[in-house]
Amino acid sequence: MDVKSRITTSVCVFFHHVLCNTGHGSIFALQSILWRKNIDHVTPPDLGRLHSKGKAFTHTIHVVLHIFTAELTVSLPLSTMGYFIKGWCFVAFVAIIGYLYRDTFDPESLANAKVLVTGASTGIGEEIAYHYSRAGAHLLLTARREDALLKVKTKCLKLGAKSVSLAPADMASSEAREKVMEQAITAMGGLDYLVLNHIGTSPFEMWDGNINYIRWLMEVNFLSYVHLATMALPHLTESKGSVVVLSSLTGKIATPFTTSYGATKFALDGFFWSLRHELAMKNVQVSITLCILGLINTQSAMEKVKDKIAMPAYPAQDAALAVVSAGTSRVSEMYYPWYVRPVCFVRDWFPQSRDWMIQRSYQQASDEKH
Ligand code: NDP
Repeated sequence: MDVKSRITTSVCVFFHHVLCNTGHGSIFALQSILWRKNIDHVTPPDLGRLHSKGKAFTHTIHVVLHIFTAELTVSLPLSTMGYFIKGWCFVAFVAIIGYLYRDTFDPESLANAKVLVTGASTGIGEEIAYHYSRAGAHLLLTARREDALLKVKTKCLKLGAKSVSLAPADMASSEAREKVMEQAITAMGGLDYLVLNHIGTSPFEMWDGNINYIRWLMEVNFLSYVHLATMALPHLTESKGSVVVLSSLTGKIATPFTTSYGATKFALDGFFWSLRHELAMKNVQVSITLCILGLINTQSAMEKVKDKIAMPAYPAQDAALAVVSAGTSRVSEMYYPWYVRPVCFVRDWFPQSRDWMIQRSYQQASDEKH
């Protein structure tokens, strides 16, 4: 191939990739803009329509981009066929990946869903409750503070929740957990989604040897999840429902200052992955979604990590939407924000460099503080 054809091919293939990637980017951007547009004012059916319109529009952009880039590529001389085929193999690869990771979230499927959300008085749990409300679900919300739950309930009803019941409870107590589940089933007449989100207070500090504290935290952050999921399973089996478990990057990669918290999140990972296998082996149609989150800008998280780590914190509203969407789509694991998945993927590739980097970044932050 002469130099001229070589340059033409490279330019065309370059534009092809740029345009395809722009297309994919614009699909995600548009979907998220459409979802947020007038978010506090849309009714659940509006939301469904908005979402479908968003999908149709963005797919049209995608097709146009493909035709346009195909035009560019087809106009190449025959001698460049190698590049042509390689280009389309790349496009096919991107298309398959795009298909596998396509957005299958349909907010309309949540209308009248029966949802129990724990830790719903503030933070991500509160935002999760609002997203389910917008879709027209029935809700049972639990946390310890009744006054905070009442405020969340008022907003949920305004946003379109079909019904909202409150069950103030301390998740450290086994009896309290039993009452919450009983109340949920009585109030809603069944259960479609169990969203396990609450966490007990944990300091962002080095391990001080307090065994009583870690025992308590295990009860709140881990055993209560197992207990609630166990009580919910017969109801979820009947409804072919879902368990959605809020976990953390700290439950995948150990970091300093999170010994107890990290241990509870690692425990959740082990228990719920194993349970998912067993349910599949018994052909029980209950999905389990583990949500692996990075740093989110909730008040409690920001207070904990301020001065200690220099990382961007992502919006709780977006994190909550990713949680609701993942639960509805019945995916096994959801990662939010974007960097969490690649970080988990490369976790064990270079263990020594990884540990060096983690310790250095935390050391620096803690030195700067002192
Ligand atoms: P918050 O601390 O903001 O909220 C915790 C919730 O749990 C509150 O509603 C609180 O309400 C409730 N709660 C606390 N203790 C108890 C208890 N003993 N019994 C019952 N309820 C209790 O947490 P976030 O919103 O920041 O986090 C939510 C989830 O997301 C957690 O599972 C967390 O691990 C996960 N996550 C968060 C990240 C972040 O950066 N924010 C990062 C990674 C994961 P009340 O005080 O009224 O009881």
